[in-house]
Amino acid sequence: TKALLEVTDLKKHYPVRAGVLRRQVGTVHSVDGVSFSLDAGETLGLVGESGCGKSTVARSVLRLVEPTSGQIRLDGEDITHLSKTALRPHRRAMQIVFQDPFASLNPRMTAGDIVGEPIAVHGLATGQALEARVAKLFEQVGLRPDQMRNFPHQFSGGQRQRICIARALALEPRLIVCDEPVSALDVSIQAQVINLLIDLQKQHGFSYLFIAHDLAVVAHISHRVAVMYLGRIVEIADKDELFRNPRHPYTQALLASVPSANPLAKKLAPLVDGDVPSPVNPPPGCAFHTRCRFAMERCKTERPVLMGDGHQVACLLNEGTGRPAQLP
Ligand code: SF4
Ligand code: MG
Repeated sequence: TKALLEVTDLKKHYPVRAGVLRRQVGTVHSVDGVSFSLDAGETLGLVGESGCGKSTVARSVLRLVEPTSGQIRLDGEDITHLSKTALRPHRRAMQIVFQDPFASLNPRMTAGDIVGEPIAVHGLATGQALEARVAKLFEQVGLRPDQMRNFPHQFSGGQRQRICIARALALEPRLIVCDEPVSALDVSIQAQVINLLIDLQKQHGFSYLFIAHDLAVVAHISHRVAVMYLGRIVEIADKDELFRNPRHPYTQALLASVPSANPLAKKLAPLVDGDVPSPVNPPPGCAFHTRCRFAMERCKTERPVLMGDGHQVACLLNEGTGRPAQLP
């Protein structure tokens, strides 16, 4: 089967400038060679600590951020450098749900107008037909159609995220990028929103690129999971395989910090000793070597690449052995 989305060697680097002369003193390697694919109807979870570049990957896929290099293909078509006009039909196919549902909703618009706006802008319906479509979207996300007249502040946090989801659904997308969609919500509400997203996917068959720092949340919704560290994917596998048989020392540390009981309640951090190094001029070799308890001399100079079939891992310990790193 052909992938819906294919991302190849994506990089996003920013210069860091300082002083009166604005001399470049470094380069932020926000995304540093990320490749993955996503099938129709599939959910890929992208997990990592804040600052690891996962939101930049999301924004690059949606062409909200211009990548430094690499390629983004949607349905086989290279959209990496399409002009705004040429990109328009693809914009409908790709929608995003942000972390903070309040910040992403216009406080002066009614919930009904917020959800109906993309339909009106694309000229897909007007008048009563538009109203009926919006009412149906409200029902699909578990809101009452009479709530269409209410303003964002009259809804709870979970309900506001439902409005954002309805707006994302309005144009019948094929891909919905979810950037930490439940991180701002109470734990008791998180599962409800995640379950809604799962139900909607079953009905509509679209794909999710689902970004979170919370491994438990990603585990619940994803078919496959990619673990990011300092702008790179260090491990990617089917969800069950990744959780049963994590091979990268970073993934192992992440999993060790998640208790099996009440998984939704526990956040990732703290996981390994030390802070994430700055993405400005990141460590050479394996970027994880400054925190890795298995680090060898050659990890300081040799950059591991993702290797393997299906279950891929970027670690010099795993090279050729296919075995997980053994805890000392
Ligand atoms: Fe650790 Fe070396 Fe593997 Fe990097 S390559 S994760 S430093 S063992
Ligand atoms: Mg982010």
